[in-house]
Amino acid sequence: ARPERSAAHVVLIGGDGIGPEVVEAAAQCLEEAANLAGREVRFTRAAGGGEAIDRGLGPMPDATIQACLHSDGVLLGAVGGPRWDRLPGALRPEAGLLELRRALGAFANIRPVRLFEGLEDATPLRPEVARGTDLVIVRELLGGLYYGARGRRDQDGRILAFDTMEYADVEIDRVARFAFELARKRRRKLCLVDKANILETSRLWRERVESLAGEYPDVECTYQYVDSCAMKLVQSPRSLDVLLCENTFGDILSDEAAVLAGSLGMLASASIGGPVGLYEPVHGTAPDIAGQGLANPIGAILSAALLARLDLQWDDVAAMIEEAVAATLQEGFRTRDLVAGRATEGAGGGAGTPAVRVV
Ligand code: ATP
Ligand code: MG
Repeated sequence: ARPERSAAHVVLIGGDGIGPEVVEAAAQCLEEAANLAGREVRFTRAAGGGEAIDRGLGPMPDATIQACLHSDGVLLGAVGGPRWDRLPGALRPEAGLLELRRALGAFANIRPVRLFEGLEDATPLRPEVARGTDLVIVRELLGGLYYGARGRRDQDGRILAFDTMEYADVEIDRVARFAFELARKRRRKLCLVDKANILETSRLWRERVESLAGEYPDVECTYQYVDSCAMKLVQSPRSLDVLLCENTFGDILSDEAAVLAGSLGMLASASIGGPVGLYEPVHGTAPDIAGQGLANPIGAILSAALLARLDLQWDDVAAMIEEAVAATLQEGFRTRDLVAGRATEGAGGGAGTPAVRVV
């Protein structure tokens, strides 16, 4: 663990569309929470994505990457948009983001999924099932099927395509350790998601996690096949705490789980493991609502809280931000994405429930 610091340097990359709006809101929350806790945050704003392309800097300027590598944490909005869709792949805003992720060497993707009180009717699940959902998916990000050998060959006149999944013990251990540590700070329940009845990689995952479990006797460690876990996510999400997944399973389950939070605009993510973490909301640039003050900033604000907790070791600052989000929602404040498809005039009518205020 790194020593506690009283001041931190955070790089902000607003990017495109609603990115700059939500990042500025998040930076403001981080700064105020840090100040209340007697600490200081210094921000550097850096170019990235389409706006950097328009300024002739390319999708991820080297100066931005260097600034990130020399910072204590990076908060990013979103990059891309229709304006740059006709550029060749390697010159697009999204290519810049991949370059940044690679430069930061993040092997673990953390996606917390929490349904805040009062948002039960924003999810497609029955309120009594969804209520209290508070889980985290830890997804391995640099190995497995997405990085293995792939190709095609001709076999007796038939076209044969293949992808391969490979995992080394060290790749499993480093992300598993992170998941155990995280579980320790939460409800102490870790579930390894795999397909160990069929896949050899999954059997190695189980072996490694089983042997690490001995070092974390205070964490309850269970194992679940990915197919039954997919069901459990929507049947009894409250029973889940930390889910550890290899790359592909984590990719699929984290989108499924996202639905439990009520809106894409609510979700935060962290990509960590390298010298500096990259924190970004899960949503994209939302060009349809950009510049209108309609974007839900909570995904970005909760990403700033993750930065405080995981990169700065400022647990108190992180908790303060998360509590402020919960309190704001309980007071009835809502962005449009959280009330879409609902009769706003009828919402929040119950005794003790504040009226919903769309901001
Ligand atoms: P990308 O291609 O950039 O990954 P996408 O096109 O899949 O992203 P978004 O840009 O996130 O998705 O937008 C999907 C829909 O969700 C849009 O209608 C958008 O307005 C809405 N949306 C996304 N983020 C937010 C937010 N923070 N607040 C409100 N609405 C949002
Ligand atoms: Mg898009």
